[in-house]
Amino acid sequence: MSSDPEPLITVTANGLYCRAGDFYIDPWQPVRTAVITHAHADHLRAGSEGYILARPGLGIARQRLGDDAGITPVEYGVPLTFGPATVSLHPAGHILGSAQVRIEHEGTVWVVSGDYKRQADPTCAAFEVVSCDSFISEATFALPVYRWPTPAQVAEEIFRWWRTNRERGIASVLFCYALGKAQRVLAELRAFTDEPVYLHGAVASLVEVYRSAGVLMLPTRQVGTERKTDYRGALILAPPGAIGSPWMRRFGEHSTGFCSGWMRVRGDRRRRGYDRGFVLSDHADWPALIDTCKATGAKRILLTHGYSDGLSRYLNEQGIAAGALQTHFGGEE
Ligand SMILES: [Zn+2]
Ligand SMILES: [Zn+2]
Repeated sequence: MSSDPEPLITVTANGLYCRAGDFYIDPWQPVRTAVITHAHADHLRAGSEGYILARPGLGIARQRLGDDAGITPVEYGVPLTFGPATVSLHPAGHILGSAQVRIEHEGTVWVVSGDYKRQADPTCAAFEVVSCDSFISEATFALPVYRWPTPAQVAEEIFRWWRTNRERGIASVLFCYALGKAQRVLAELRAFTDEPVYLHGAVASLVEVYRSAGVLMLPTRQVGTERKTDYRGALILAPPGAIGSPWMRRFGEHSTGFCSGWMRVRGDRRRRGYDRGFVLSDHADWPALIDTCKATGAKRILLTHGYSDGLSRYLNEQGIAAGALQTHFGGEE
């Protein structure tokens, strides 16, 4: 791998652009060719002519973009030719179908991570370290305070909270992102029970997509589809937007929990007003960000979103050239 005079990826008004291959990665404006890292709303936007993404994410992308969208699914690791550039997708371990984008041109290799994590996740393929000259990484949780407990530990905490609430005769309403987090909770809880869990409609449709993809999860029922359900003692998964909405009234007395990396910090738990916080994130924590940046062997690291300052300072101190890229990607909101 030689050093490159011109960057393979640049930020343009439409998004991250590869001039050599004439395509965009997760563009924020409609373009001709969009290579997609994953289907979260800040990375997959409607309106582009053609989308290229990893095959396990096809069902989710179809649901988000509709049947008419021009989507080309590709297998992980299979090289595609874009003019003089070679492109391949590699698992990012973030959500089902999430991918890093590897681009090779004239002996130089760049990798765009999208969002990623290094923890085991039964709902998607594990992150693969891809060697490169330049690595474009996220930095959502790039502060030393963000360190994740094991998913099994967190699943047990959720299960115990649910049981304690049941003993009190009340419902447990767990807020988690509808795409990725909810399915992961349903998969991790299989270690403790085989009881059904109730779902908000926004979560239920995506759980069905995961189920069709072969992901094993607890049995589920959609809230509101059965008359006169008694929710005392039940566990309900809902997107964060449902908190405080009239939809909540049917549950009667209940305890609320939130599953997110942000719950690692006590002040965040209080401010957001949940009874319980569970530290479960689909993003890399501080040690995982550092390990990953080093493991790629990249001589240059560019950070797209999150607490990029601290991480780029740390990497620069370690002798790895690092800086920030201004993008329109969001973190774990
Ligand atoms: Zn994401
Ligand atoms: Zn993101």
